[in-house]
Order: sequence, then C-alpha cells, then structure tokens
Amino acid sequence: MTTPCEYCDSPVEHHDPVYVREGEGEERAFCNYACLTSYVDDEGLTTGNCCRWSPS
Ligand SMILES: [Zn+2]
Repeated sequence: MTTPCEYCDSPVEHHDPVYVREGEGEERAFCNYACLTSYVDDEGLTTGNCCRWSPS
C-alpha cells in the first residue's frame, strides 16, 4: 500500500516522508520537507497565522 503525497501525488514511500496531522484530524503525507513547504506556500496556510505566546 502506498500513500500519495498531498502536494505532488507521488508515493511518499519512495522518498523520505513527512507526516502532518492537524489536531485529531486526518494525517497528511508529504514526500519530504520540500513538498510540505511548497504545499503550505501554495495553500497560504501560514498567512495571518502565527503561534504567539502570551503570558496573560
Ligand atoms: Zn511530493
């Protein structure tokens, strides 16, 4: 069984796979960090999102 890359659709097992899961949601698989960052850029997932820690 192979898992397609979320970004480029090639089987992630052929590369050095990276897995991302949002909360308890579905796991997304990527060939490597290059596909992961390209996906994030394309989807604009980091726009306006920043992990800001505030003490109060
Ligand atoms: Zn890929």
